[in-house]
Amino acid sequence: MKKIVAVGEIVVEIMATEPGDGFREPLSLIGPYPSGAPAIFIDQVARLGQPCGLISCVGPDDFGHLNMERLRADGADVSAVTVAPEGVTGSAFVRYRSDGERDFVFNIKHSACGRITRSTEGDRLLDSADHLHVMGSSLFSESIVALIRHAMDRVKARGGTVSFDPNVRKEMLTLSGMRAALETILGESDVFLPSGPELFLLSTATEEEDAIAEILDLGVTAVVLKRGADGASYYDGESTVHHPAFAVTEVDPTGAGDCFGATFVTAWLRGLAPARALRLAAAAGALAVTRKGPMEGTSTEHDIETFAARRHVAVT
Ligand code: ADP
Repeated sequence: MKKIVAVGEIVVEIMATEPGDGFREPLSLIGPYPSGAPAIFIDQVARLGQPCGLISCVGPDDFGHLNMERLRADGADVSAVTVAPEGVTGSAFVRYRSDGERDFVFNIKHSACGRITRSTEGDRLLDSADHLHVMGSSLFSESIVALIRHAMDRVKARGGTVSFDPNVRKEMLTLSGMRAALETILGESDVFLPSGPELFLLSTATEEEDAIAEILDLGVTAVVLKRGADGASYYDGESTVHHPAFAVTEVDPTGAGDCFGATFVTAWLRGLAPARALRLAAAAGALAVTRKGPMEGTSTEHDIETFAARRHVAVT
C-alpha cells in the first residue's frame, strides 16, 4: 500500500461554546481538541488503514501529548514529529458568529510549529513515502516553505506524487514570496484540491472552466473542487464528475475539507474510479461536519463505506 506523508502544523483548537463576535469578553470555552489541517488530514488517512506519517513539531506539554497520542493511536507514523524542549504547542481559539463565519486567535507561527525543520527522521519518512500532501496553511514562514519544497523534490525524485490543498486566505498572497511558492507547488502537483473561490487564487480567469483548464495545462492530473454543502466536482481534462453533498445536520464544519481530501487522495492512490473516490470523499466530508472538534470528524473506512452505501445525497 502506498504511504502518504504531510508536513505542517499540529495545534489544539479551543472553541467558544456560544456564538458571537470575537473574544473580547470572558467566555465559556470547550477543548482542547487535536487539530492542524495536515494533522487532521493524516489522521483521516490513518483511519482509512493507509500507511502515513507527519513531519511536525510540538512542545513538551499536554497539547503536544494529546495530538501525538491521537495520531499514534489511529496508526500514523509520528517518528518525525519532534518535541522542541523550549517550544509550546500551537493553538487556535475559534468562535462562531451568528452568520456562520468564524473568528480565530492563532498561535502557530511563534509556537513549536515555527520550529519545524529538516531532520534525519523527516528525511527517513520522506524516503519511505509514495505521496506527499501539501497544505497552504502550512506555508507560514520562509523556512517551512523551503522544507516543503525539499519534501516535494525528495518524494518526486523517487517517482512519488503530490497533492495540494491551497487552504489559504487571499491576504496570505501578500506575504513576500508566497505567490511564487504557491505557483511552484501547484505546477508540481498531481492533484489540486481547492475549496470554492480558492480555484481562482492563482488564476486571472473569471469562469470556473477557464481556471480549471489553466490548472490542467500546468500538468496537474486532477482538479477536485470542494463546494461545501453543494458537494464536489472532479476534472481531469477528459472526464468531469460531480457529486452532491450528503444530507446531514452540520455541527462543526472545521476539518471537513481535510477529511474529504484525505479520503479522495487515498482512494486515488488505490486506483479507484473518480466517481467512487468522490463519493467516498463526500461521505467523509459529510460525516466530519456532524461532529464537534476538527479531528473528531475523522472516520474509519468501515463508517465511510457504510455511510456512502446507505445514505442518499442532498438535493442541491
Ligand atoms: P473546506 O473545509 O476545505 O472548505 P468544504 O467545506 O467544501 O471544504 O467541505 C469538503 C467537502 O465536505 C464538501 O465538498 C462536501 O462534500 C462535504 N461537506 C462540507 N460541508 C457539508 C455539509 N454541510 N453537508 C454535507 N457535506 C458537506
